[in-house]
Amino acid sequence: MTERIQEFIDSEGWDKRVIREKQADVGEILLAGSRHMGGVNFERLSTVDLERMFELYDEMFFGGMLGEMVREQSKVGVKFRMSNRLTRSAGKTRRMVKGEGRRKEDVRYEIVIGAGMLLDNFGEGRREAKACGLVCENRLEGLQRVFEHELGHLFEMLVWERSSCKQARFKGLVGKWFGHLEATHELMTRREAVLRAYEVEIGDWVWFEFEGRRVEGRVNRITRRATVLAPSRDGRLYSDGRRYEKYYVGVGDLMRVAL
Ligand SMILES: [Zn+2]
Repeated sequence: MTERIQEFIDSEGWDKRVIREKQADVGEILLAGSRHMGGVNFERLSTVDLERMFELYDEMFFGGMLGEMVREQSKVGVKFRMSNRLTRSAGKTRRMVKGEGRRKEDVRYEIVIGAGMLLDNFGEGRREAKACGLVCENRLEGLQRVFEHELGHLFEMLVWERSSCKQARFKGLVGKWFGHLEATHELMTRREAVLRAYEVEIGDWVWFEFEGRRVEGRVNRITRRATVLAPSRDGRLYSDGRRYEKYYVGVGDLMRVAL
């Protein structure tokens, strides 16, 4: 490890305000230069955008060190791609070594960003989600937080070959570089975010708007939507001897009824 890298690892990082400014700059420049994204709640994202984002982060946060280390170690460098197959996590970084030894042509890196997780969140009328312990107001912010987490992994892999976000070292690095409060891979889904925020659980009394009126009921099931049973004289008879009408409601649209 060079002295420069060691110094960077030992440095205190930036203060929160500077971090936020740098992050906003990356986002703005990325959007301005993207042919696909169109706005903070983009519908499309290409690997070109991811490559560009890597360059921006490398320049603004790592002083070009990431790119240098990658070029030193790997002939093919870092590949970026979007995947619909990542379900639980929003991003993944891999270091792949083919064959024995550490020849340049044998090492490559890959950063995968889960498309579904991003696009599922931040749609119209949906609430914000959380990633890395930070509230994300839109898809771009979600993407940036996830990407930053993955850059933490890439950096560790470049320096120590292995990386784990469960370890204190990782948490320390992404904390001082990016202001992350948590080291997790999840972009918390809307359901989870809402559950946390409002603590809506199965069995809770909730209210929601249905065709302009307020309906109250009990949460019976939660999947992508919540099943709410609202007591009603005209409803179906249930095993508890009462009548209910069944509604399927987006969890983000539920409010817990204070009892
Ligand atoms: Zn991780």
